[in-house]
Amino acid sequence: MKEVKSPKKPLIYYYGIVLLVLLLFNILVAPLLLQQQVIEVDYGAFMNMIDEENIGQVEVSDTQITFTDKEETTIYKTGLMDDPSLTERLYAAGATFSKDITETTSPIISFLLSFVLPLVIFIGLGQYMSKKMMQQMGGKNSMSFGKSNAKIYVQSTDGIHFSDVAGEEEAKESLAEIVDYLHNPKKYTEVGASMPKGLLLVGPPGTGKTMLAKAVAGEANVPFFSMSGSEFVEMFVGMGASKVRDLFQQAKEKAPCIVFIDEIDAIGKRRDGQFGGNDEREQTLNQLLTEMDGFEGNNGVIILAATNRPESLDPALTRPGRFDRRVPVELPDLKGREEILKVHARKVKAAPDVDFHTIARMAAGTSGAELANIVNEAALRAVRNNRAIVTQADFEESIEVVLAGYQKKNAILSDEEKKVVAYHEIGHALVAAMQTSSAPVQKITIIPRTSGALGYTMQVEQQDKCLLTKEELENKIASFTGGRAAEEIVFGQITTGASNDIEQATRLARAMITRYGMNDEFGMVALETVTNQYLGGDVSLACSADTQKEIDRKVIATVKEQHEKARRILRENRELLDMLAQYLYEKETITGEEFMRILQKGDVQQ
Ligand code: ADP
Ligand code: ZN
Repeated sequence: MKEVKSPKKPLIYYYGIVLLVLLLFNILVAPLLLQQQVIEVDYGAFMNMIDEENIGQVEVSDTQITFTDKEETTIYKTGLMDDPSLTERLYAAGATFSKDITETTSPIISFLLSFVLPLVIFIGLGQYMSKKMMQQMGGKNSMSFGKSNAKIYVQSTDGIHFSDVAGEEEAKESLAEIVDYLHNPKKYTEVGASMPKGLLLVGPPGTGKTMLAKAVAGEANVPFFSMSGSEFVEMFVGMGASKVRDLFQQAKEKAPCIVFIDEIDAIGKRRDGQFGGNDEREQTLNQLLTEMDGFEGNNGVIILAATNRPESLDPALTRPGRFDRRVPVELPDLKGREEILKVHARKVKAAPDVDFHTIARMAAGTSGAELANIVNEAALRAVRNNRAIVTQADFEESIEVVLAGYQKKNAILSDEEKKVVAYHEIGHALVAAMQTSSAPVQKITIIPRTSGALGYTMQVEQQDKCLLTKEELENKIASFTGGRAAEEIVFGQITTGASNDIEQATRLARAMITRYGMNDEFGMVALETVTNQYLGGDVSLACSADTQKEIDRKVIATVKEQHEKARRILRENRELLDMLAQYLYEKETITGEEFMRILQKGDVQQ
């Protein structure tokens, strides 16, 4: 391990400060401490004392006379007078003339007070400050780099149990085995089975990975050691490795227990020998591997790690004997969302008639963390409106808040713009509804949102769909282009409002060709691979430049074809388009039911 020295300021700097403090102390503080009580008297009293020969020491300065009585117990002070014979009379009275009568304290005490005391204060202060600084720099004294800093990694599990984690049944099932093992390890050792040392929880952010790890510890009632991968990586090379050592040492002492490493990709990234590699990260990773190899499979320490970038992990981490078991923690499905909503709604006062199934349907594609947020936003909205109970409307509005941002209060849409947005949104919805296999809409609004969306069409799938047919995908693309198509048909001009639609339509069309094999010419060849499944789904091309050109051409053709289809649908239903857009323009928000009623009756009247 490399020794690391903390950067030092030049010594002269400290000496300078010492001197300054001493000087200030002597000038300001010491005189106050040392001075005895001085009684101020008038000149007459001074004369009387001279006459009574009750005078000890006398000091005559430019501004005052300081003197003591015969026994030198009290110090007096008086003003100056023009008194030429004073010296003779004082002499006659037996006074002694001295330089400084206030300096009566013993020299040792005065030395202590004026020199040693400030030094002690100063050194104490310095020690305190340097300790503080070291704590900020990683909790270590400069003399003990690489040694234990006695940080305790045990964390509370917040009393979380499996019942608090809604949905995620598969994940819970594979973790239940771990709980069983921690309860009764004998059962396993007798058969000769050994528990995996490490389990990797993989899934998108906010799906409850941390919760699940805590729940395992909570169910098994064992200590929960927790640390985030990024916490290991320090400024100084070697610190992370020593933290790993600390963590495992503490864990082994407390076994059986759970060690949870969040964001393990921060240290476990593939070591790819890139230019300017990260020494600290590699050392930390190596130490982690060493620790995992170092203990026996059945000593009761189970390591859980979480990541949302499993593909970036070093293969050495995922090989058998280390994190060999993977537990996928996926985004919740419809049923899962409903359960998560219910779990969190237990904490708020919800009206008895709140329909969580509908809310779960509206919140398609959200994670557990977002659902928790939706419930909280709904409760906040209830408080804002001075209600003690959270209603269905609160929940529905809060979904939009979480997904699209708050309503813009001072929306500055001109009348003409509002009309364009109304037609645009109805265009999406109408194209979607006219294609039989497209999902119906839940709600359309043209109230601008803080996210920048001017309008908003919430599509709702009746059930979660796992498979999409080629036709359904094409219909989706057509619906995305429907907004722009309506603008073209009605106003004969186009606006910037379709940029997001264009992006989504392009992405879908591209995926159809490069990943789903839905193109006759390319057939079932993977032309792109997803590199970042859980975080946005970045893709990297895996084909020649010529093929790329061809792909681009086909993507354009696909989108164009669907755009044309959308235009055709809207032209054929121009009357409905006008009627619905006018209705939306007036109402600003219409529900899916209103939309469908008008669509089916062909009439706005109730
Ligand atoms: P991750 O570690 O996967 O990023 P967390 O475990 O930190 O996610 O979850 C964040 C929050 O989301 C939790 O505190 C909880 O409130 C909520 N949450 C996520 N998934 C669930 C779930 N399945 N059941 C209940 N709450 C959940
Ligand atoms: Zn649009």
